[in-house]
Amino acid sequence: MICIPISPASNDQAAELLALAATEPADLIEIRMDCFDERPDLPRLLALAQKPLLATCRSKAEGGKFNGDIQDRTSLLQEAIDLGFPYVDAEADCLPGLRRSSESVTIASWHDFTSVPADLDEKIKNLCDLPGDWVKFAVMATSHADNLRVFDAIGKASKPAIGIAMGEFGETSRILGPSRGSRITFGSLRQGEESAPGQLTARELADLYRVKSLTRDTAVYGLVGDPVGHSMGHRIHNAAFAAAGVDAVYIRWRAPNFVDFMERFAVPLGVAGLSVTIPHKEAALRTAGMTSPLARDIGAANTLTSLPHGGWRGDNTDAAAAIDSISAAARGSGIVLTGKDVLVIGAGGVARALGLGLDRLGCRVTLANRTPERARSLALEMGWRTVEMADVANHEWMLVVNATSVGMHPNISASPFPADGWRAGMMAFDTIYCPRRTRFVREAEASGVIAIDGTGMFLGQAARQFELWTGRTAPRETMRLAAGLE
Ligand code: NAP
Repeated sequence: MICIPISPASNDQAAELLALAATEPADLIEIRMDCFDERPDLPRLLALAQKPLLATCRSKAEGGKFNGDIQDRTSLLQEAIDLGFPYVDAEADCLPGLRRSSESVTIASWHDFTSVPADLDEKIKNLCDLPGDWVKFAVMATSHADNLRVFDAIGKASKPAIGIAMGEFGETSRILGPSRGSRITFGSLRQGEESAPGQLTARELADLYRVKSLTRDTAVYGLVGDPVGHSMGHRIHNAAFAAAGVDAVYIRWRAPNFVDFMERFAVPLGVAGLSVTIPHKEAALRTAGMTSPLARDIGAANTLTSLPHGGWRGDNTDAAAAIDSISAAARGSGIVLTGKDVLVIGAGGVARALGLGLDRLGCRVTLANRTPERARSLALEMGWRTVEMADVANHEWMLVVNATSVGMHPNISASPFPADGWRAGMMAFDTIYCPRRTRFVREAEASGVIAIDGTGMFLGQAARQFELWTGRTAPRETMRLAAGLE
């Protein structure tokens, strides 16, 4: 079940929030009675509710806001039970004083806002020994592996359990929890109204992650990198899985330590595939037992696919997607790139990948970079040429590629190529897709140049990942719409 917690300060506000929550994709609404500045009017709220209610009165010791004493708290919880609230959440101190009823599921709850304690199993056993029909525990995750400890504890509980890993590292438990036996996962009414750290919205849980249809057999994919907050991958891949009817889910994981993430989380969870982003693409290639020749030559993998008998296959879909995008535009305009001079601006991972792809198309690759030594060293390794940034407009290029972050949001007024360097008949390719129409693209177009933005590369690399993972043709139109690209 998906439950939306609401934390109103008054009965009138509670009535408003109940009406709002009624339209959201949730099965249950939790009323946090400890947040009220007045006595909750439980008969009124029960009469107004269009979905089943869970009554909670969290003490300050357990992270709540209740100002009264244990008698006041017990009396509110007892009133909820006597009125027939379907679910009532109570902590260890109140539970012995409550007269339970067969109409109400009493949930014995316990929270740790600092860590997942070493004696978690013992704590859950003690919780199960308390009076109550179900148990609920919420602990603070400090690593992705903590989600697995929560799943393990749910499995070991002698009563129906709700287990949550809180915080940024606990998102997996909120998405996969129900498929691992957690009776409830909590999702906020709106973004910014989370009742606990790391909560997603109920709508994201229901519509984006489809948590109620996930099972232990659902294939788990995701993005690993640091940072990952800007990524649209979870929108694109989850939409693609849903459209193609693939039983799979895609989660974002910020992981500062790649090896730790793989060994303590991805492998034990049985992750089926990963998109890999900065700064882990080189480490991903080292992890892969099997690699595509392109990924090997580039020296980086942005895609890992788990192999049937253990281990990973590493691929690089960035370069192939960019070359697809460039080749399609060249074909459409009757431009031949083979044998022509192309300028790649940048000397990072993407410059290397695109340079290699263009080299394989038979282009003559020249690099220019803010830090010329980096361009020289990459060019020396790959057998390419270099040109000074100040000199890029004094040459004839068939294609100019921006493989830097110059022009990316928020610095959208910058371009790495001078406006007077463009000539009609050239091509321009920007790796940036945010914004879509960079200054580089706009100035190129204004000079009659065929300009390609980074969206084709972005969608293409995701589509190729989908195809590597599922063996099916990617629903590209669905992916484009999910990315919000017109
Ligand atoms: P990277 O390894 O960090 O390299 C960044 C490059 O940009 C370096 O050459 C760096 O020059 C240059 N640069 C950064 N800030 C600059 C500035 N203010 N002025 C001049 N040069 C600057 O990054 P990457 O992984 O290669 O990514 C490069 C671009 O590709 C990024 O814009 C990224 O968003 C884009 N990308 C797009 C897609 C897609 O699907 N469309 C996929 C992946 C990446 P120095 O050597 O002097 O630092």
